[in-house]
Amino acid sequence: MGNIWAHDARRMTAAEIDYDDRWGRVCGFSPKCQAMTAVVTSYKYQAGRGGTGRATVANKHVCADHADRFAAKHGITIADAPQQEPAPDSFLSAFVTFADALAPTPRWARVKPTFMSRQPWAITKHDRRTLVAGRTIYLTAAADLGFEAHVLPAAEQALAQQDRLVVTEPWTRGDNDTATAPVALAEDTPAWAGKPWTVVVDEAPRYSGGPLAWRAVLMLAPQFKEISVELGTHNMDVDRAIRTATTELAGSWTLGEWTRNEATATTTAQKAPAHAA
Ligand SMILES: [Zn+2]
Repeated sequence: MGNIWAHDARRMTAAEIDYDDRWGRVCGFSPKCQAMTAVVTSYKYQAGRGGTGRATVANKHVCADHADRFAAKHGITIADAPQQEPAPDSFLSAFVTFADALAPTPRWARVKPTFMSRQPWAITKHDRRTLVAGRTIYLTAAADLGFEAHVLPAAEQALAQQDRLVVTEPWTRGDNDTATAPVALAEDTPAWAGKPWTVVVDEAPRYSGGPLAWRAVLMLAPQFKEISVELGTHNMDVDRAIRTATTELAGSWTLGEWTRNEATATTTAQKAPAHAA
């Protein structure tokens, strides 16, 4: 691997250890060690052949025993855990929410014919007038039904189901069966702002396959796309899922009292004001 230098180690915060445990992440020192993580070890190395690449930091979460060995070998002291919670270095959690957060909220939706028989209509979403945000929605029905009476209502239904978007002003018709309308996230519109969401914590299959994941699903109303926050796949039960959901959602949501059932739990949530500290 070439040059390796700047060996370092620090203890993990309780939240980091809890996170690793919920996601089944154990000591990364060797595949044989299944002990809980306790310390982040790191070193720098030169990527590429002949030391021509850039210096890169390699991080590993390791158990307490392996951390001690690493520290002794490299003559370093293991630093305390940071006072402030560091940014997570894994994309395992909350994948769906993360993907949502990356796409800018569209400001316009445009309906146009595709001239494909199975998917005769497409809805594109636009950030400003020209930039497309997010994926195109194809409508499979309403091929030869009326544009005003069927296609536009179907488009509104699809925007709500797939993106939680609401049309905020009447559609403007263009040439050749096209139409454009301004859109906004439902929760940002006067009709839905301040309405309580329903939160359900349960265990469900993941999009990516693999073990079931506990998740918190936030629903504004049945016609709208849900927000799903994944909480963990390992060593979980309802109580831990409730605790985790409460922590994960605390920054952006105000939660009500939880009602705990056998394998699920429910509560209500209000979106916290966007510019709260
Ligand atoms: Zn270990």
